[in-house]
Amino acid sequence: MGSMKRQRGRNHDGQRRRRGDGLRRCLGCGKTLAPSVLLRLTVSGEAELKVDVARKMGGRGAHVCYHGPCIEAAFRKRRLARLLRVKRLDAKPDVIVEQAREQLLALAQWRLSRVRLMGKIVTRSSRIVEAMSAGDLVYLVVVGGILKKDASLLATALNRGIPIYKIASFASEGLSSPLEDNGPGLLGLRLGATAASLEQVLKNLVGIPNA
Ligand SMILES: [Zn+2]
Repeated sequence: MGSMKRQRGRNHDGQRRRRGDGLRRCLGCGKTLAPSVLLRLTVSGEAELKVDVARKMGGRGAHVCYHGPCIEAAFRKRRLARLLRVKRLDAKPDVIVEQAREQLLALAQWRLSRVRLMGKIVTRSSRIVEAMSAGDLVYLVVVGGILKKDASLLATALNRGIPIYKIASFASEGLSSPLEDNGPGLLGLRLGATAASLEQVLKNLVGIPNA
């Protein structure tokens, strides 16, 4: 065991910090987290702030949680502008929240269609129960409110500790295609590693409040 004193370039466990550890710090709450749970912000042109949900835009980036208060806090005290090395930013927190929601929904829709192709989405209640009994169901998405007929199904899911996400605006935001035959209701997702990124997108969506 080495000295207890914290050394430069080492984290609190004394391990050497590597560039490749991939963690980023939220400008709002200061937590160090995986990039997949953080919203990337960047600037284009002189001062136009851009949301980069897909993390594909170039340029200097800043990170915040998918969480209204963290986004607000990042704007305070000009922390964001300083980090992005611009004098001022042409955007407000609520504009950023709205942009993030739009991009997340588009990303969720795309990933949902992929997962559907892989047969990972179950929409019929009886099939959801089946998948749940088989231990196949990873989580449930409630779309457009809870229907009476789904109440007992939801209770079972809760008992089994299956996470439930409620997305009120799913259908109205152009995400209705996987549900076309069923209308509002439940989506049971059987996720494999290939679809884990969809789960992350949905989690992030829940963190971003409706504008
Ligand atoms: Zn945060």
